[in-house]
Amino acid sequence: MNTHQSEAQCRTPRVRIAPSPTGDPHVGTAYVALFNRTHARQGEGEFILRIDDTDRSRYQESSEGQIFSALNWLGLDWDEGPEGGGPHQPYRQSERLDHYRECVSQLIDSGNAYPCFCTEERISELREKQKAAKERLGYDGACRNIDKAEAQSRIEAGETHVIRLKVPDSGETTFTDALRGEVKVANSEIDDQILIKSDGFPTYHLANVADDIAFGITDVIRAEEWLISTPKHVLIYEALNQPLPRFLHVSLLRNADKSKISKRKNPVSLDWFRQEGFLPEALLNFLALMGWAPDDDEEVFDMDTFQEKFRVEKLSTGAPIFDLTKLDWLNGMHIRRLEIEDLTERLISEGFAPPEASREQITTILPLVTERLTRLNEFSDKTEWFFAEPNPPAIEDLIPKKSDKTTSLQALTAAKDALSSLDDFTPEKIIPALDEVLETGSWKKPFLFMPLRFAVTSRRDSPDLVDVLAILGRETVCARIRKSIELLDS
Ligand code: GLU
Repeated sequence: MNTHQSEAQCRTPRVRIAPSPTGDPHVGTAYVALFNRTHARQGEGEFILRIDDTDRSRYQESSEGQIFSALNWLGLDWDEGPEGGGPHQPYRQSERLDHYRECVSQLIDSGNAYPCFCTEERISELREKQKAAKERLGYDGACRNIDKAEAQSRIEAGETHVIRLKVPDSGETTFTDALRGEVKVANSEIDDQILIKSDGFPTYHLANVADDIAFGITDVIRAEEWLISTPKHVLIYEALNQPLPRFLHVSLLRNADKSKISKRKNPVSLDWFRQEGFLPEALLNFLALMGWAPDDDEEVFDMDTFQEKFRVEKLSTGAPIFDLTKLDWLNGMHIRRLEIEDLTERLISEGFAPPEASREQITTILPLVTERLTRLNEFSDKTEWFFAEPNPPAIEDLIPKKSDKTTSLQALTAAKDALSSLDDFTPEKIIPALDEVLETGSWKKPFLFMPLRFAVTSRRDSPDLVDVLAILGRETVCARIRKSIELLDS
């Protein structure tokens, strides 16, 4: 590690994420944001949100707002960023073009960058030739030695050009990744990277380094896919005579086949997770476990606990497989950790409650279903029999295996008679009443309870039957049993 890098570690952390607004907000953004933000909070530093919108061909206008709301939903708030303010405005790279031009003219003046006038045709021909000869692909430096004055007049004449980094011909570039150790790359392997494209916009490499310097970023904590670009970044830092930040490349989330997580094989949009009814705390808990494991193996935790125990240096370099089954399990665990009032509020505010349901009704019914609730979007389906009259059950469902129509009719009639005479419609009264019905009829348990369950809920997987009866109330229960009796009798 060079001395600059170790100095960076001692400073109050200033970290950032730099998502690109190119589509739906990606789960990988939340993953990296979680570690960055937690690291900033631990060191009482700042977490910065910068919008990397320099790739105009992939830019999508709605995407930025979606990123903000997804991060806010997750509680991953930032200290500096577009709209939120901060001392380094603007935080959108498309609004910082002057800054990059200044940076690049400094690089040209010091002989570390040069204009390149090669046409796209020449570059693709070069590529084909290199491929055929099985040579390393990359720019061959044809424009490196164009006289400065000549280059200037060609630029003034409006000739299309890019600006490239002049990578030293010999030697090597070295830096330390805080998780992976020392990385060394021979300069001959590094391409003369484009810094400014022909449309005048900077490339990712220049914009990110220029901004990381301008924003005083101490730790660059980002996805592993950028590790390969870091030597180029190091060369830019060095050419600008700036200290390096600490680099830390977080392992990529992966599909089951170990490929980089992709929407063909996994849900990746943060909006999807929200719409499915995952709780923010469960998704964060899940993401935290993808990169890190607590010493005590306690897998279910909240973000305060995470902040207490997590150390960015302890991030794993393994290949974490994105496992939705595990996320479902964690979501269920977090659902059951919530107070019923809080869960009610979430169901309502996130639009998962049936529109006809009152807050009070939801609070009443929730304890019956939380045990089996995995995603909040299942709530309506699991409880629809409560809020509205369900479709009548199928006749076959009212007649359990090995029973018959007459038995079901008798059982339902006896149950209706017993239940309708109860003044107090509570589990304490319902249980003995049904026990007595069972004893008198001397049926096997399912012969009574199965038709009864279907009569009142029209489904097999409803919660505990006695709780269901008590909650629905005597009138509704008896009316629904009557309908099933009519159905069997017709
Ligand atoms: N725009 C890049 C991304 O979306 C930023 C990478 C970096 O953090 O340097 O991942």
